[in-house]
Amino acid sequence: MNQSKDVWTIGNILTWTKQYFGEKGVDNPRLDAEVLLSHILGTDRLYLYVHFDQPLQAAELAAFRQAVKQRAMRLPVAYITGHKEFMGIDFTVSPQVLIPRPETEILVQAVLDRLSGITQPEILDIGTGSGAIIISLLHILPTSTGIGVDLSVDALTVAQTNADRHGIGERLELRCGNTFSPVSGRQFDVIVSNPPYITNDQLERLPPEVLHEPRIALAGGKDGLDYYREIITQAAGFLKPAGFIGLEVGYDQARQVAAFAEQTNKYQVQDIICDYAGIERVVILTRREL
Ligand code: GLN
Repeated sequence: MNQSKDVWTIGNILTWTKQYFGEKGVDNPRLDAEVLLSHILGTDRLYLYVHFDQPLQAAELAAFRQAVKQRAMRLPVAYITGHKEFMGIDFTVSPQVLIPRPETEILVQAVLDRLSGITQPEILDIGTGSGAIIISLLHILPTSTGIGVDLSVDALTVAQTNADRHGIGERLELRCGNTFSPVSGRQFDVIVSNPPYITNDQLERLPPEVLHEPRIALAGGKDGLDYYREIITQAAGFLKPAGFIGLEVGYDQARQVAAFAEQTNKYQVQDIICDYAGIERVVILTRREL
């Protein structure tokens, strides 16, 4: 963007930025250029297409230049715009929280399907982060209540912002602590979690974008399964008799998580659900009758 040009327009700056992002190894250079420019102009992407000839004001150009610089350093788009859509809902995100992923919608949908007969479901979300999972559940189920637990106070601040933005703040309690320590004595209809599941080896080889995300939200120990063992070992005591657990898992972890759960003799594996890419992504466990 330093080359001399008579006027920077929406059209020619998108062309330039696509090329630049491509050189920097960004995966979807044109899409990212459009998302960032529409964010700065306060428009949608369609607007760009019908205003290719519109010149950029100096302030818009300066703001876009800053965003392009950040994206070229492989900062994820969602951290630059401060937003990410999940379950059709707009979530505020910051580098203090993992960016909600489309495959996590599979987990939310699986939980929704199984809560449909329950009048006032009580939901626990472990490792709530931005709050995407529990806030979308509470938003879709108007009589539900929930608790979101996270080790990170900074993440809980983001979750609170999202809860307030979506009008479910009164039905959601956010508590700081590890797994079940903040909810002793409580029982839930569902315990849901997308815990950190990246193995130590994989942590060394993450794409540059993911390296900008909080390590605490990613690192699952040597085999990535530390949090599953902890959650599964303790969860039965926090479930109502007909309650269930919904867990997101990494691409090769579903069978190991299911096997671990069965070995405890406390659960039945009710389902293993694939994501859009055909990867076993969600494990559903129910309490075994004793
Ligand atoms: N889905 C994330 C990733 O692969 C990981 C999230 C997690 O550890 N729970 O980048």
